Amino acid sequence: SWSSSDSVISTDSAGETRGRGVPFRVVLLGGSDVGKSAFARIFAGAADSMDIDDCEIYGDETSERTIEVDGEEATITLLDTWTTEDDGNCMAQEQSTQTGDAYLLLYSITDRASFLRASELRITLRCHRPARHTPIILVGNKCDLVRGREVSVSEGLACAAVFDCKFIETSAAMQHNVWEAFHGIVRQLRLRRDSKEA
Ligand code: GDP
Ligand code: MG
Repeated sequence: SWSSSDSVISTDSAGETRGRGVPFRVVLLGGSDVGKSAFARIFAGAADSMDIDDCEIYGDETSERTIEVDGEEATITLLDTWTTEDDGNCMAQEQSTQTGDAYLLLYSITDRASFLRASELRITLRCHRPARHTPIILVGNKCDLVRGREVSVSEGLACAAVFDCKFIETSAAMQHNVWEAFHGIVRQLRLRRDSKEA
């Protein structure tokens, strides 16, 4: 048959709608030490979790990878934001709230301050893009550290409900739910893309 929707390259007049081969820009946001770089290393293909501290990278780092989600390939360009100790304003992160197609908003379940930081960043995101429905997943990382927990699952869920975003708890150290988070963001990006194409 001539049903060949996959070969159709669709762009609207503003060039905003992405063809299927154009990478999605996904940004890792969150306070320091929540596991953003650990996520980035898993995404980039670190051999196993023992590698996650092997190379500390200073500076924003991007990596690009094509993954299969629900039988369809998706290319993601991942931006790992970073902050230095004395960078109280976290300017790099504030700027990156304007550049992504989607965001993984991380906190550590063992660090309540990082949970509050995630709320601040969510508000910044909303200010920078009030009209657009940007896919965001709130990610409670380090769920392997059971005895150090400071933020409960129900608090994370309630926060995500207020933020109008999805929620997942992960452990980068155990490689638990990390790919589920990336797959979830691709599914949300596709929903948004498909509704634009309709
Ligand atoms: P970033 O500052 O957000 O980039 O955080 P990093 O990825 O550098 O991680 C900060 C520290 O937390 C490192 O020592 C990591 O090994 C550790 N870490 C990251 N994710 C996890 C996790 O899921 N569980 C545990 N136990 N430690 C983690
Ligand atoms: Mg880092």
